[in-house]
Amino acid sequence: MTDLLKKAYDPEIFRERGYKVVNIIADYLKECLDKKDVKVYPGIPPEEMLNMFAHDFKGSYVNDPANDLLLMSENALRLHHPGNIGHQVTPSLPLAALADLFGSFLNNGMAVYETGPAATVLEKIVINWLVKELGMTGNADGIITSGGSLGNLTALLAARQVKAGHDLWDQGMTHNERYAVLVSEESHYCVDRAIRIMGWGSKGVIKVPVNSDHRIDLNTLETKYREAMNDGVKVLAVVGTAGSTPTGTYDIMHKLADFCSDNNLWLHIDAAHGGAAAISGKYKHLVRGMERADSVVIDFHKMFMAPALATAVIFKNGEYSYRTFEQKASYLYQEQSKSKSKSKSKSKSKSGSEGGNEGWYDSCKRTIECTKRMMGAKIYIMLRTYGQQLFSNYVDVTFDSAKQFANMIRKNRDFELLTDPSCNIVCFRYVGGSKGSGLNDLNSNIRDRLLEDGSYYITQTDIGDNIYLRITVMNPFTGKEEFEGLLKKIWEVAGE
Ligand SMILES: *Cc1c(COP(=O)(O)O)cnc(C)c1O
Repeated sequence: MTDLLKKAYDPEIFRERGYKVVNIIADYLKECLDKKDVKVYPGIPPEEMLNMFAHDFKGSYVNDPANDLLLMSENALRLHHPGNIGHQVTPSLPLAALADLFGSFLNNGMAVYETGPAATVLEKIVINWLVKELGMTGNADGIITSGGSLGNLTALLAARQVKAGHDLWDQGMTHNERYAVLVSEESHYCVDRAIRIMGWGSKGVIKVPVNSDHRIDLNTLETKYREAMNDGVKVLAVVGTAGSTPTGTYDIMHKLADFCSDNNLWLHIDAAHGGAAAISGKYKHLVRGMERADSVVIDFHKMFMAPALATAVIFKNGEYSYRTFEQKASYLYQEQSKSKSKSKSKSKSKSGSEGGNEGWYDSCKRTIECTKRMMGAKIYIMLRTYGQQLFSNYVDVTFDSAKQFANMIRKNRDFELLTDPSCNIVCFRYVGGSKGSGLNDLNSNIRDRLLEDGSYYITQTDIGDNIYLRITVMNPFTGKEEFEGLLKKIWEVAGE
């Protein structure tokens, strides 16, 4: 044992530092919510930022970590500031961040039940709750994984295994088959990436254009499907979006579900952002039909106020959640867990594939991760402390705010609204009275200037050949004052 190690684990030193850190967090939060005149985005270029934090770590360390933490907060993108209206990342709920810290400290990796007993059941409880709220009946089930990107891959791997027609997981691509997935043009890039990871290349991704309301065009979907089948490409799935990344649009999911059931295709809905509407009385209608999907992905770190990462992957048929990694090695996990599970005796699974959900408590059977974080814990704590009402309030407030902003844009001749927002994402651009060419450069420059200025943070997106400015209202404290301030700032920089 060394002195240094002893100090590093000393409970009393930790207690003192811990209080300090909580104070730093509370001060930061207050500063943000009081709209203190701080920059939302620091606007410091990467190399300069690098120098600010670079050290050789070789000294004898008696540093107070508070200084470094303060420097981090000073140079962060301030999600909790109402002037942050940029990406789809939530200003994490303070309590959820604490629960996350607690989970980090317990560090119960939960690859198998033994390594995270409480963590394992919290995940199950959270998933069961969500499944019910989504309106899925029967044996729907799922898992929590690290992010929407991984979640979409997890679901598509299951789709592949179930729909491919042979045991692809075991035999690989033996038949020179060509597989593909029909994907909305507005889908997140990670869907395209997941398909390429599966080895199907760019041809495996059949992009289906959206129509003027930014939803998958159903006629083209049909045409693309026929074309692919005529070319000898086996289409296995359709990926729809509930809250698309560029515009926040929801596909017409019950139509997609009809199409998929007519053609024996897997329907996956990427609801990473917009799935939370299911919790809201007011906006539940947006996710109509989603309960018919074979798989659904929902990020808790977007519209559920949880710190990153935590993503639910839900399967309408819970048994399919075991198909992602259809490996005989699953017996290995069962062998392991037999000894510790008194409730379930031997596995009743001989068939393997449809083997039921025995062993649900060994999470690594169904996730890409082996060790993973205690992701269910923070959601459970939020639910226990505030009830699910908190989530519906959050959805209602942020979606309503976005509509308010869209109304302001609509009434303003200098701005143009791309489309009525479905959720809390709004695309618009500055037209400054004219609708001529040069608008792309103008809007792109406006965004650069906003970044330099730092008092508001927004993003931009390409829609067709046009560049639009884009806001996402993730902060429930963002309101009229910020919207007016933002528009004023845009006028200012556009004038220069
Ligand atoms: C954010 C998002 C993703 C990616 O999820 P991560 O958690 O960032 O990996 C995928 N799809 C949609 C629709 C999203 O909004």
